[in-house]
Amino acid sequence: MSTLTHYKIIRPLGSGSFAKVVLAEHNITKQKVAIKIIKRNKVQDENSLRKIEREIKILQGFHHPHIIRLYEFIETEREILLVMEYVPGGELYSLIERNGRIPEKQAREYFQQVISALSYCHERKVVHRDIKPENILIDEQSFLKLGDFGLSNFIRDGIFLKTSCGSPNYAAPEIISGEQYCGPQVDVWSVGVLLYTLLAAYLPFDENNIPALFAKIKAGRFNVPHYFSVGARDLIRRMLNTDPVSRITIKQIMEHPWYKANIPLHLKYTEAIVDHDRIVDCLGALQANRSRKEIFEEIFNKCLEFPEFQGLQKEQLKQQVLAKKQDSFTVTYHILLDSTLKVKRKLLNQSEINVEPIFQKKVGIFMIPDDETIVSSDCTSSTESEKSNHPMPHNWVFGFRCAISAIRLVIHLFESLKSLNMEWKFLSEFEIRVRSVGFEEQKVGEDLPKYVGKGVKFDIKIYKFNESFILDIKKVDGMEMVYLDTCASLYKKLNGSVPIVRKRSIDIY
Ligand code: AMP
Repeated sequence: MSTLTHYKIIRPLGSGSFAKVVLAEHNITKQKVAIKIIKRNKVQDENSLRKIEREIKILQGFHHPHIIRLYEFIETEREILLVMEYVPGGELYSLIERNGRIPEKQAREYFQQVISALSYCHERKVVHRDIKPENILIDEQSFLKLGDFGLSNFIRDGIFLKTSCGSPNYAAPEIISGEQYCGPQVDVWSVGVLLYTLLAAYLPFDENNIPALFAKIKAGRFNVPHYFSVGARDLIRRMLNTDPVSRITIKQIMEHPWYKANIPLHLKYTEAIVDHDRIVDCLGALQANRSRKEIFEEIFNKCLEFPEFQGLQKEQLKQQVLAKKQDSFTVTYHILLDSTLKVKRKLLNQSEINVEPIFQKKVGIFMIPDDETIVSSDCTSSTESEKSNHPMPHNWVFGFRCAISAIRLVIHLFESLKSLNMEWKFLSEFEIRVRSVGFEEQKVGEDLPKYVGKGVKFDIKIYKFNESFILDIKKVDGMEMVYLDTCASLYKKLNGSVPIVRKRSIDIY
């Protein structure tokens, strides 16, 4: 196919009403993609064409870990081709059909992902209107990907929608009654049906004929199986509330205790954190709570290495990526970015923390087999003598050793500091100065009355040490006991805020 110069088609994946989907390989990155091929002669009516155009318009600007990505679309006289992220695990529908009831923990994870995707859509004034397990695919890491935005629409303030959409079993009462509706709440209803179906493996509203089904939906009559937990039961009841005005909103769902339990880190901190693992970026994003707009240099530079792009103007390529153009460099950048982010998200959620206090003679942690030099906060480096196990009795290190990914460590560190009412600034990429909010220095002087200031000030340096990280802490100002007390609280927070593989009490050597 001449229009697909950058892709090699591998095999068919499936087909929909007017399109077939094929698996293909992107020639430059060798990553797999799915290509939806829509034959123009099969799209007879204007309405269907408009739907396709709307789906393209919506998906083009979207980038969310649980929404299928659209990398580019190619239009020819006979076809419209959508090059999308390849999601290999099949439909959520098939999973329920195959396995029956999904255990509550897993169902909650799926639910959290769909809610996060919907929240992203609604924030961008898009309502999906066709949430059902057939429109949700599962990727190789068991992450869900929301697709099929063919029935979605833009929400405009003050303008209500009226089109009847989606599958009847998932449709909200206001839709089947032909009433005007304000988009987001119909998605909430459908996700309520979805959550019920995940937990029960059957639908809350099901009848052999449409009038009976609609009567049930309008009355909001459904049974809750005894094995649903109290939290799930409560949430479903609030979502399947026939009154769209008092129905729970996405924002309220995200505040619900059942939803919040075990929320994965990549959802809690969205793209700002997930997208990068350089510690300084994480810290910056967390502090400012901003989402990133800039280019990921690491990915950008990798793209520049491909022979196809050598000798091209770097600045111009950057502008193309920022402008979200559809040229081959930008498409390559995004395909590569997504495959990298997938790995990072997995790492972020998989790594377990094992915070281990270090309050011991330096020799304990400076027996480093390779010669990666670790410099302690008091600026002495590991010398040959230390490596050869010579004790240094008066030289102490206080810190924690954490077997954890860098991003997770930083997230937990900052959460912990925040909850201890501390603030911080960067001293370097891997070093921060922390102080109690409202910190006052100790003043000692001849002319000044001597007084002890409020709070403490200390520096934290992060070192990589074999497979783990060391947080090295050094007091800068404040009372010794307050400092030690703060360190103990920080250790407790770090240990308590995350799943623990092995918990240890603080050992003092
Ligand atoms: P659709 O026309 O979107 O309903 O797609 C038809 C079928 O193609 C789906 O049921 C999936 O099995 C498959 N499919 C669609 N999109 C993708 C994708 N991005 N990755 C993998 N398979 C897909």
